[in-house]
Amino acid sequence: MYKNVARPKAIFTTWLLMWGRLLTTDRLIKWGMQIDPKCPLCCKHEETKEHLFVHCDYAKQIWIKMDNWTTIQHCTISTWDQHLDWMIANSKGNSQGAQVFKIVYSETIYAIWMERNFRIFEKRDREWESIAKEIAYVYVLELLPKSSVLSKIYLSFSICLVAPSKFLFS
Ligand SMILES: [Zn+2]
Repeated sequence: MYKNVARPKAIFTTWLLMWGRLLTTDRLIKWGMQIDPKCPLCCKHEETKEHLFVHCDYAKQIWIKMDNWTTIQHCTISTWDQHLDWMIANSKGNSQGAQVFKIVYSETIYAIWMERNFRIFEKRDREWESIAKEIAYVYVLELLPKSSVLSKIYLSFSICLVAPSKFLFS
C-alpha cells in the first residue's frame, strides 16, 4: 500500500484485514465467544472475512458501484485468494490507476467494516447506496486533492456526485 493517501483509519483496517487480524465473528467464535454467527450485512450467511468482503450481497453492491466509477473489476472474484491476488496486482507501482485503486480499495474495506460494526454495536443500518456515495465523497473532497492523480479523474467523480441520484444509482 505504498503512497496510499486513503485516511489512516482506512489503511489500518485494510492492514488488519490483510494480516488476518480483523476480529470477524468466525474468529471470535473460535475463541469461545457465544455470539450470533450471521453476517449483519445480509443476515443470511456466517460471517468470515471471505464472506464479508467477497461473497456478501450487500458488500457486492458496493464493489459493483466502485467498478462503475473506477476501473476496479471486483465482480468476477469468487474466493479470498482471488481477492488478494486482485488487490496486489492492482496496487503495484505508482501509476494513476494504482493510486486510484489503493485509495478506493482501502476506503471500501473500511466502509464495509464500519457498516458491519454499526449494525452490531449501534443497532443502526444504512442502505449500500449511502455507503457507496460516502466513499465517493471522501475520495473527491478529502483524498483526491492530496494525491497526484490527474484532474481528469477528479472531474469524472465530481460529475458522478452532482448527477441526479436516479442517474447515479440506477
Ligand atoms: Zn453478508
